[in-house]
Amino acid sequence: MEKKIIVAIDGHSSCGKSTLARDLARGLSYAYIDSGAMYRAVTLYFLENGVDWNDPSTVGQALQRIRIEFQVSEAQNQTLLNGVIVEDAIRSMRVSEYVSPVSTISAVRRAMVAQQQDLGRKRGVVMDGRDIGTVVFPDAELKIFLTASTEERVRRRYSELSAKGIHITEEEVRANLLDRDRIDSTREDSPLKQASDARILDNTFLSREEQYSMVMKWALEAIRS
Ligand code: C5P
Repeated sequence: MEKKIIVAIDGHSSCGKSTLARDLARGLSYAYIDSGAMYRAVTLYFLENGVDWNDPSTVGQALQRIRIEFQVSEAQNQTLLNGVIVEDAIRSMRVSEYVSPVSTISAVRRAMVAQQQDLGRKRGVVMDGRDIGTVVFPDAELKIFLTASTEERVRRRYSELSAKGIHITEEEVRANLLDRDRIDSTREDSPLKQASDARILDNTFLSREEQYSMVMKWALEAIRS
């Protein structure tokens, strides 16, 4: 039987990590895990339950009450928070505003990383995030650091939100992206950075199909090596 590998995809906000990860997971018949959705679900729980995340003991108790699962269907992956589908709620601007500060908390990261490592125990997963190749799976057989120009990232995110009927200006989208990039790259615990053995892929001028075929080639090489 063919060897199963882990593909780790990291990069800044809205550079198309989840599109690439999903395409690749489908092509390889692997599981796709959106680690950002897990941090978003924690943030949603904290906001909905008025959790004071500056208080370590409150955070510790809250984390014990949080259960995150993924429901995989033909159409899309759904994120469940304590048994309830929260796929739309975790993509709201309110969650986007607070997710990076929440993701700086080490107790939150420890809990999420443990779950992510467990999900990848049997390999055969494509996971995207900020610290997958550096912290979660430093032994991933294929690591990709995805990038795209800020203008292109803002354009993509703006059209994605507009298509969902979310009313927001391009300026607000830009401010949120840059703010998250800054917090994610400068936090003390597991900052976003390129793993030394990651392949860099700038997809600013690549179509979805072009980036998919490049990465699929790398994945097949890693599987066969
Ligand atoms: O991937 P997405 O943009 O949905 O992630 C939302 C936020 O979750 C990021 O801006 C970052 O603060 C946090 N995150 C993280 N580590 C990951 C994935 C996401 O800190 N592995």
